[in-house]
Amino acid sequence: MKDKIIKIIARYHHDRHRLMDILIDIHDLQGYVGDTAIEVLAEQLNMSEVEINETLTFYHFFSKTPRGKYNIFLNNSITACMRGREKVKETLEEECGTEFGSVSPDGLFGLYSTSCMGMNDQGPSAIINDKVFTNLTPYRVKKLIADLKSGKTLDEAIYESVGDGNNSDPDVRSMVFNNIRKRMILLDKNYEKFEVVRNLLLQHSPDEIIGIVEDSNLRGRGGAGFPTGLKWRFGRRVEADHRVIICNADEGEPGTFKDRVLLTEFPDLVFEGMILAAYATGADIGLIYLRYEYRYLYKYLNRILEEMRKENLLGEGIAGIKQFNFDIRIQLGAGAYVCGEESALIESLEGKRGEPRDKPPFPVQKGYLGYPTIVNNVETLAAAVRIIKNGADWFKGFGTKDSLGTKLLSVSGDCKYPGIYEVEWGTSIREVMEMSGADDVQAIQVGGPSGVMISVKDIDNLGTTDLMKWYKPSGMMVAQKTFDRKLSYSDLPTGGSIIIFNNQRNLLNEVVTNFMDFFIEESCGSCSTCRNIPYLMKKKLEKIISGHGVRKDIDDLLSWGKIIKISRCGLGQTAANPVVSSILNFRHLYEQHVKAMADFDNVFDMEKSVEPANNYVGRKANIHHA
Ligand code: SF4
Repeated sequence: MKDKIIKIIARYHHDRHRLMDILIDIHDLQGYVGDTAIEVLAEQLNMSEVEINETLTFYHFFSKTPRGKYNIFLNNSITACMRGREKVKETLEEECGTEFGSVSPDGLFGLYSTSCMGMNDQGPSAIINDKVFTNLTPYRVKKLIADLKSGKTLDEAIYESVGDGNNSDPDVRSMVFNNIRKRMILLDKNYEKFEVVRNLLLQHSPDEIIGIVEDSNLRGRGGAGFPTGLKWRFGRRVEADHRVIICNADEGEPGTFKDRVLLTEFPDLVFEGMILAAYATGADIGLIYLRYEYRYLYKYLNRILEEMRKENLLGEGIAGIKQFNFDIRIQLGAGAYVCGEESALIESLEGKRGEPRDKPPFPVQKGYLGYPTIVNNVETLAAAVRIIKNGADWFKGFGTKDSLGTKLLSVSGDCKYPGIYEVEWGTSIREVMEMSGADDVQAIQVGGPSGVMISVKDIDNLGTTDLMKWYKPSGMMVAQKTFDRKLSYSDLPTGGSIIIFNNQRNLLNEVVTNFMDFFIEESCGSCSTCRNIPYLMKKKLEKIISGHGVRKDIDDLLSWGKIIKISRCGLGQTAANPVVSSILNFRHLYEQHVKAMADFDNVFDMEKSVEPANNYVGRKANIHHA
């Protein structure tokens, strides 16, 4: 085994920055990375064992101990839970003969939970030895486990049928469905591959390309909304021997799966966007950080990159442009939501724990291996190609004044038609509900757990038959005002996740609790605020739900939600959002729970209660100034 591990390390030229790849390969080889492998790694990479362990123990999909022959990671995102995850989990435990978090006695199955795996439109789903199994039911689980026990291979057991579109490509062969429900300018099938690189780059200088993107006002589609042209310009300005373009394909926000679909159906468009960005900024190094959950696309994407190299679309003198040298490598993650944050992603790309860096310096100044690095979202890069092809004015014909173009929405939850919708910015929540067939709505989570939960407000404003036809009289009603809110950077910004909850859902017990568990699990642990406050909030939430809370607990939650904002990165800064946003928009649910303790709230008087003790020792009570 030692020799094999040494060979793997040699394949990556003993480069410690490729530690993620090396660990993944060792994992593939022996199912875990144990003490012997760690010793070899430390020796061969000239690192300490502590450094190896730091990376190894950070990511969900790595293990230091042996797992099963088949390792089943069952998704625990909120929509999976809403669609029967608990029954699927019980069936897996019964059929495999072991509990979650352990390996079956015969060593055949390991059962584990995992966060949202980008399959919210077809959950509950599971990753089994890197292959995705969707729409699980107890029946399908029984059949799957029986097949594996009988000796069928995973492919034979899983791939009775494949999904739509390129999911049937021989290099994908996945059960995943794209569920594209609405196409506009980005998902337009009318796309001539690499036309922009082949024909238009020669007509524009890098500066002109940046100018067109700036003129279009394209903003980052990952959620932050930073102007893309400006980012490219900043990156180009920094003096350096090398510059780097990173495509952030680590979409981990629960409820988001649009990048999965773009990478499946329009990989060439995304790669073309990377070439465009490289030309504009003078970059020669290209990296795609692909979340581990999408490993089933790895072979397929690499094949396309290989074809591009043969066609001189990657490599040296791309498209006949002298000194335009650029290539793209795919780097797999290993399961860590925080790696969606660009500096954490860069740390991971360098083989380290995915902990966000202090800023400044920003990645455009000093990023991957110290080089100026431009990190763009998958959707942003795809949009840039359409803009260069059709012009900034064309792009400005879509959307609103401050939010131009279109946005891909990943819609899931309680609706008839979950899937991908390409809509113009400025589309109202009402329209999204109509499109997706959501006719019984209690709440909508916009932007995933780190976003906002919008809901019932201003019931007095209701009364139109238009609204009444949508919502059950017995349930909560969403005010017209809320439903006419628009998806835009100035009203409801979103990276694309829209999760719908109907009136049967228990928002506190089911939803907010699930979201808080997610943040507790995903904190990288660097900041004491992010490490502790979500946990304390969850405990307080449980206290309230159990009927032991008082009004002050609600106030405490709101005030802790402010304290956590000082955390270093967006994960911590938004980790209190599920609680805070649900208090702001669903305060009545919290109030219901604390009602039983109302007397305690009103009557308890600390000053009075310690009065006898004070009298006894002859001291005047002054609690408020103590
Ligand atoms: Fe890590 Fe949370 Fe701090 Fe971000 S906010 S650096 S995830 S501890």
